[in-house]
Amino acid sequence: MTEETIFHRILRGEIPCDEVYSDSLCLAFRDIQPAAPVHILVIPRKSLPSLMEAQKEDSNLLGHLLLVAKKVAIKEGLSNWRTVINTGAEAGQTVFHLHIHVIGGRTLTWPPG
Ligand code: 5GP
Repeated sequence: MTEETIFHRILRGEIPCDEVYSDSLCLAFRDIQPAAPVHILVIPRKSLPSLMEAQKEDSNLLGHLLLVAKKVAIKEGLSNWRTVINTGAEAGQTVFHLHIHVIGGRTLTWPPG
């Protein structure tokens, strides 16, 4: 069993989200506190707290999430964007349901803090 998070409630439709893409494996929606003009989260329907818990059997799912990240970025009109997966609290992860941030629409600096 994995810990219940706000993203589980979004997946069940109990909390509204600004959805941009959905399929049988994942959901993509706008971040509630956008860090850039485009800030979308791509999350698996499967419960995985973070990339740390992903296993070989999740290879296809992880590849799919990345391709969906590209799909939504292009749909938003982006040709440059950043994909981020924070893994663990010290890396900035606050919601322990695996998610890919898709961030773009402005010039991004590197490295992050
Ligand atoms: P993390 O810090 O875990 O990598 O990213 C979690 C992200 O989820 C944050 O950018 C935060 O703004 C976003 N977030 C947290 N709660 C909600 C919510 O209820 N709805 C939406 N759309 N985004 C959320």
